[in-house]
Amino acid sequence: MRRHGKLEYGGQAGPQRTCVGCRVRTAKSELLRLVRVEDHVVPDLRGRLPGRGASLHPAMSCLELAERRRAFPRAFRVPGPLDVSRVRAHLDREDHDMSCRTPS
Ligand SMILES: [Zn+2]
Repeated sequence: MRRHGKLEYGGQAGPQRTCVGCRVRTAKSELLRLVRVEDHVVPDLRGRLPGRGASLHPAMSCLELAERRRAFPRAFRVPGPLDVSRVRAHLDREDHDMSCRTPS
């Protein structure tokens, strides 16, 4: 995963999103899209689920940062805490493999 300290414009100007964990702006294609389903945060592996999304590096450290900052309730505009166990399980299984394999 490339992560430069500065933003570069020009060249390919793909869509960018900010990781809710580390707050680094990254190409959307490098981030995992998350959506809220009731009080759960779930990974949107195909990028097709409706509703407000949040973006996260597919890294456990960023998930933990996001939890510590209570970034998910803020990102999804809900008052209460959200269950991220499904995101955690996904990251656990995929580790740092970003490609969308068929979920088991
Ligand atoms: Zn991050």
